[in-house]
Amino acid sequence: MQRTRMARRWTRDVSVWALLMVGAVIVGLVTHGHAQEAKDVLEADGAREEVAPPMSVESATTAPRHDIVPGTGPDAVVPPIKRTAPIVAAKTLFGAQQKPAPLVARSIGFYSKGCLAGGVQLPVNGPAWQAMRLSRNRNWGHPALIATIERFAVEARTLDGWAGLLVGDISQPRGGPMLTGHASHQIGLDADIWFTPMPGRELTRQEREDMSAVSMLAPGHLAVDPKVWTPQHVSLIKRAAGYADVERVLVHPAIKKALCEGAAPAPDRAWLGKVRPVWGHFYHFHIRLGCPKGLTGCQPQPPTGADDGCGKELDEWYLRMTAPPKPAGPPAPPEPPKPPLTLEQLPTECRVVLAAETAAPVTKPAKVK
Ligand SMILES: [Zn+2]
Repeated sequence: MQRTRMARRWTRDVSVWALLMVGAVIVGLVTHGHAQEAKDVLEADGAREEVAPPMSVESATTAPRHDIVPGTGPDAVVPPIKRTAPIVAAKTLFGAQQKPAPLVARSIGFYSKGCLAGGVQLPVNGPAWQAMRLSRNRNWGHPALIATIERFAVEARTLDGWAGLLVGDISQPRGGPMLTGHASHQIGLDADIWFTPMPGRELTRQEREDMSAVSMLAPGHLAVDPKVWTPQHVSLIKRAAGYADVERVLVHPAIKKALCEGAAPAPDRAWLGKVRPVWGHFYHFHIRLGCPKGLTGCQPQPPTGADDGCGKELDEWYLRMTAPPKPAGPPAPPEPPKPPLTLEQLPTECRVVLAAETAAPVTKPAKVK
């Protein structure tokens, strides 16, 4: 009797234990599945848990995955994803590059999310230009942009009587996000040109760091300042926008208004459509080339359209600029800072650009006093 009862209890214990084990395995499989699913979503968003070192495209896609060990029982908690390396912002990686990637010249990705292969340096002194802020090392671009800047400088001098261009930021040697300023300027197709004409002498390196550009706006920022804004500025912007490969010229809305008023009447107004109003851009204007023809991997912008932008669109900008300030309510909680772009969020080929061996300088560094 006693033996039978013991045998029954043993059988029951074994059954319960076996049931628990089966349950544990099922829960383990399910939680593992969820963990993997969550990880795949993260990877699809480009937010990998670790930043892969620069590598070739091939090895990047065959890199081993780091699966999470699942929980082993009903009460087990899936451990958080361990970061094996801190996330490095792409701006840190591209901002550290001193030399271009010696590859075929290509603008890869989008103006605000990409990089530059085969970058060419704008000489710091040219027949009709001088590059500014040399310490930033941002006078690099796609060869098509550098050629357009050089042509623009020479033609503005000979045809418009403009003394010469002071050229601000273009791109870093390998493009990419920058440590300071600029969301765009990443693929070597954007350049900032000062509204201030070039002085009639070669600036020293220190002067190129310290010299300030002159604002074109009158106090209140609703109109240009007639003391500094001249008909020559209209000719200069018209010339930049007139080049077939220039897709956009960005200026402050008040400058766009001055251009609309200062431009000749139709039919010579098609260029105005390329001149786009945007905040800032009253110390310098910004020229942007479209993706060079036949270049794969360069993501174009939508075309600007046929409208000169001097009517309704400009009116809307002025409504915004003259709107009374909103009544101050309770202070809003500060928005969390936007995380910086990671290498994984840029086109995969940008890893190749970053990893490319540095070659001898493309151009001889010019001596600046
Ligand atoms: Zn710019």
